[in-house]
Amino acid sequence: MPHNNQVVSSVNSVVEIDAVVVGAGFAGLYMLHLLRDKLKLNVEVYDSAEGVGGTWYWNRYPGARCDIPSHHYSYSFSAELQQEWTWSEKYAAQPEILSYLNHVAERYDLLKDIQFSTRVVAAHYDATQQRWLIETDSGRRLSAKYFVPAVGTLSSANIPKFKGHGSFEGEVYFTGHWPKEGVDFTGKRVGIIGTGATAMQAIPLIAEQAAHLTVFQRTPNFAAPLVNEPMRRDVDQAAKANYPELRRQAWETFAGVPFDRLKPSALEESEEQRRAHYEACWQDGGFSLWIGSYGDILFNKEANETAAEFVRAKIRERVKDPVIASVLCPPAGQTYGTKRQPCETNYYETFNRQNVSLVDIKKAPIEEITGTGITTAGTQHEFDAIIYATGFDAFTGALFKIDIRGRDGRTLQEYWSQGPRTLVGLAAHGFPNMFTITGPQSPSVLFNMPLGIEMHCEWIADCIEYMELNGFGSIEANRKDEDEWISHVKEVADSTLLPEATSWYSGANIPGKPQVFMVYLGGGKHYKQVITEMADKGYAGFKLEQAAVADSARKVCEAL
Ligand code: FAD
Ligand code: NAP
Repeated sequence: MPHNNQVVSSVNSVVEIDAVVVGAGFAGLYMLHLLRDKLKLNVEVYDSAEGVGGTWYWNRYPGARCDIPSHHYSYSFSAELQQEWTWSEKYAAQPEILSYLNHVAERYDLLKDIQFSTRVVAAHYDATQQRWLIETDSGRRLSAKYFVPAVGTLSSANIPKFKGHGSFEGEVYFTGHWPKEGVDFTGKRVGIIGTGATAMQAIPLIAEQAAHLTVFQRTPNFAAPLVNEPMRRDVDQAAKANYPELRRQAWETFAGVPFDRLKPSALEESEEQRRAHYEACWQDGGFSLWIGSYGDILFNKEANETAAEFVRAKIRERVKDPVIASVLCPPAGQTYGTKRQPCETNYYETFNRQNVSLVDIKKAPIEEITGTGITTAGTQHEFDAIIYATGFDAFTGALFKIDIRGRDGRTLQEYWSQGPRTLVGLAAHGFPNMFTITGPQSPSVLFNMPLGIEMHCEWIADCIEYMELNGFGSIEANRKDEDEWISHVKEVADSTLLPEATSWYSGANIPGKPQVFMVYLGGGKHYKQVITEMADKGYAGFKLEQAAVADSARKVCEAL
């Protein structure tokens, strides 16, 4: 990738288009649809995967499925699409979500503008031209007015480099890059590192197949049952008859998923009332206990402890061996739900199986990966296969893998070296005409992601339309407004218990990553009001500059 001042001289080899979108998951697909089909812009999309789907293309591990109900975990932008797609389970599994996204791509004829198996490696802003110079690993070079890295918040795997990394001679799998053809663990000795939401989905199914499964747990987790079931006809019919109302209700809630049992305070009820209420939420499944039980459990430690103790009791009830149960139980002081609550199916019962063992690597850490297995505190565990279910370098990982340079050649990595800096999670000062989707400091992963993605894509498309219709060449977040937003995000987060957890929400899972709470906790509805108001005020908080050169995008938009 040339530096900005070299770009002009090599312009012959550069393809001029209006927008480049990176990623063909929920976000990239809808962004393409809006920019190409609504604004009639010339758009190219790139994805390193061989097909669409993003998360649901890569995460093909056994048990992968969504943790919010399928009717909610889907696009809302098209009434026809909502009516024609029928989910087969309350919580759809990975193959079905992937089929859905393929259906969307075909239905809106998106595939012809997506280049697969191609990684975007660099994006440099040329302030003179008000354009991004973008390069792919296939050597394609593009000049685009708009750059939309829809690269996913959970798409860059965290692979810990234990001593001996790479020396294991058996099979090695990463849950976030699971082989397309699947894996047969029959008769094999398998080790799995990690006990997050991913591992909790995979472990029960792998245990059913493997000769022996050894689970390496660093931090015990509070999980609740998913309570999945085949889609009931009446439920599907009711959803289809009331989709607008369903979506309206979702937008009224904090996380974009309605729960009808939410009460204000765990501390205002007697122990008996609380237990009955938690039990009802537990039976509902999914996130009912987490964000649908009492409003104060994520704000008040005493209230939180009542929920934590309820879950600990459930673990002790379900796991027969009290020693194993005690290792699986998060200890006193570990707050419930301050990390995303994993949803499980038979996870705890799996530890009652004879072919499953649990290694507490907090007590006996992993010392080394050897040719034949894993050594923990002097004990050698022999395996045929090792699985890394070790999570993601969330929010920033995928962005930093691209050499993104804004004004004056400043890298995004340098600008975010103390933690992400954004205005409302959509843009960063010094990086004009670049928009992130469900980026850090937006409600992002703590809001129903398809709805959050739609909100961002629509805001970005409206912003681009506004710019084109008014002859603007660039839009850039003001530093002062960015500062204010960052303080606000911190202030809201600090009023909750969430920043206290060592979680990927704060970057705590990645050694050396600055620890800053990265999610806006003001709720999706309030956040939507904030960004809508900014737009209504002519993009308050942003600096807009007139176009330095005439460009095709404007002509297209004006013709609409
Ligand atoms: P992604 O789906 O991550 O897509 C990003 C794409 O960008 C990827 O295909 C990647 O290959 C591509 N890419 C990245 N960098 C480059 C590059 N430099 N060049 C080319 N291509 C690139 N959210 C929920 O709300 N509910 C759920 O139930 C839920 N379940 C989840 C389960 C799992 C296992 C995981 C990992 C996440 C889950 N999420 C869930 C979050 C999920 O990531 C989002 O819901 C949503 O799928 C994100 O879509 P996206 O398009 O923003 O990003
Ligand atoms: P995760 O929650 O970050 O869990 C990673 C696991 O690996 C943790 O148990 C972690 O231990 C362990 N680990 C990481 N580095 C380690 C190291 N160096 N040594 C030992 N153990 C290590 O990641 P995830 O399970 O992939 O889930 C990430 C997010 O993806 C979820 O929170 C959720 O948002 C989404 N997701 C959703 C679903 C769903 O149900 N729909 C399913 C999967 C994922 P520590 O806890 O000690 O760090």
